[in-house]
Amino acid sequence: MSSVSTSTPGLRQENFRFRCIACGDLSDAASQDFRCGHCGDLLEITYPTWKETKPDAAKLKSTWQKRRLSSSPVDLSGVWRYRDLLPALDDEQQVITLREGNTPLYELPRCARITDVPRLFAKHQGMNPTGSFKDAGMTVAATFARRAGFRWVACASTGNTSASMAAYAARGGMRSLVLVPEGKISWSKLSQALDYGAVTCQLRTDFDGCLKLLQELVRKAPVYQLNSINPFRLEGQKTLAIELLEQLDWQVPDHIIVPGGNLGNSSAIGKALLEMRELKLISRLPKLSVIQAEGANALVRTLREAGGKRLISVPAETRATAIRIGNPASWKKAAHVLETTGGACEQVSEFEIAQAKAEIGAEGIGCEPASAVTLAGLKKLVKQGFVKRDETVVLVLTGNLLKDPEFTIGFHRGDMSGSIQEAEAAAPLRHPPIVLDASLDAVMRTLERFN
Ligand SMILES: *Cc1c(COP(=O)(O)O)cnc(C)c1O
Ligand SMILES: [Zn+2]
Repeated sequence: MSSVSTSTPGLRQENFRFRCIACGDLSDAASQDFRCGHCGDLLEITYPTWKETKPDAAKLKSTWQKRRLSSSPVDLSGVWRYRDLLPALDDEQQVITLREGNTPLYELPRCARITDVPRLFAKHQGMNPTGSFKDAGMTVAATFARRAGFRWVACASTGNTSASMAAYAARGGMRSLVLVPEGKISWSKLSQALDYGAVTCQLRTDFDGCLKLLQELVRKAPVYQLNSINPFRLEGQKTLAIELLEQLDWQVPDHIIVPGGNLGNSSAIGKALLEMRELKLISRLPKLSVIQAEGANALVRTLREAGGKRLISVPAETRATAIRIGNPASWKKAAHVLETTGGACEQVSEFEIAQAKAEIGAEGIGCEPASAVTLAGLKKLVKQGFVKRDETVVLVLTGNLLKDPEFTIGFHRGDMSGSIQEAEAAAPLRHPPIVLDASLDAVMRTLERFN
């Protein structure tokens, strides 16, 4: 049954407000481009009611536990289960959900041995419905897009945002417009957007060019923009960290390590950590560190060369296409959470990414290249002494292995061999396919060779 909202738009009493991250201006409504009307900086969502009546930590924990036994769609969602810390809906039936969240937390014993830390975990966001963490944000932002009456949603994307947006738009009965850089996204991701019915435009530019164009478009046309500039996305992505802490029985890990592209996810995880501490769900903060590809290292350079004061954008080049972003929109938010949690920012090479990806794969888990920067970065942070040898570490694996088969096959075939040292380091990790005559003898001999 469809529900009829009794509240009048405009008179609705929301549980949240928008706050500008630069000038602090508070407002009840946001413009189409989600920028501050006074200074043009990004907005974030705040919950003024927490000032007077703070949600009770013990009560929240038991409510979230209980909802795991429920079979209603909002409770089965690993995002909306934590709706007490999200923008409130008038009616639970408004939710557009594909049962996102609920992602596994795996131990990585072999990678722990390689990196020399005692306990290493992977929070695998690639196990979401469309194969990346984008779903956690998209369920919230798409829901609020439809609630605001939009018929069209749009995004610029390196692939995963478009796959996720197209799916949620389709589920919610909205049309979607995708702007992707031509030739620079994987076929897997592109095929998702096509199948979910998006109008897909491959623009002859890079991701940063697509995002710039989208920003202009949303000021001219009644389309709702679903990039991570949209603060509703970040609210949904916060639940990654809440679910993680719940899975760890609220024992705070020492480090959380996340890949950095447009820097929305690191901002969201940081916001969740700060809010969980404010609400006394946790008593201390893990250090949140961001890892980038050397060829797309805008945040690394911004912190090292400009002290985090102004963005140093870069022309982005990396085979880890999900983080091939040179002008990250949420750099200020990310710089803030790194500073507040005491996290680090590092960069890793193309080979280090490929090697780390194969090492994660060898644990039977697998992820897309952008996710593997976390393990590659951890190795560096241990060497530098930033991660101590008795500390617990969680890697956020952002995307599914199947998102980029070309990269994986290329590595195993040896197409990515660089220097002799790299080829030697890659050799034990490579498992190229073997072409044989269809004879028992040939297969038997192969088996012996590997025995
Ligand atoms: C989007 C994405 C990233 C980058 O996240 P940001 O929020 O843009 O920093 C990393 N990995 C994967 C798999 C992604 O889809
Ligand atoms: Zn402002």
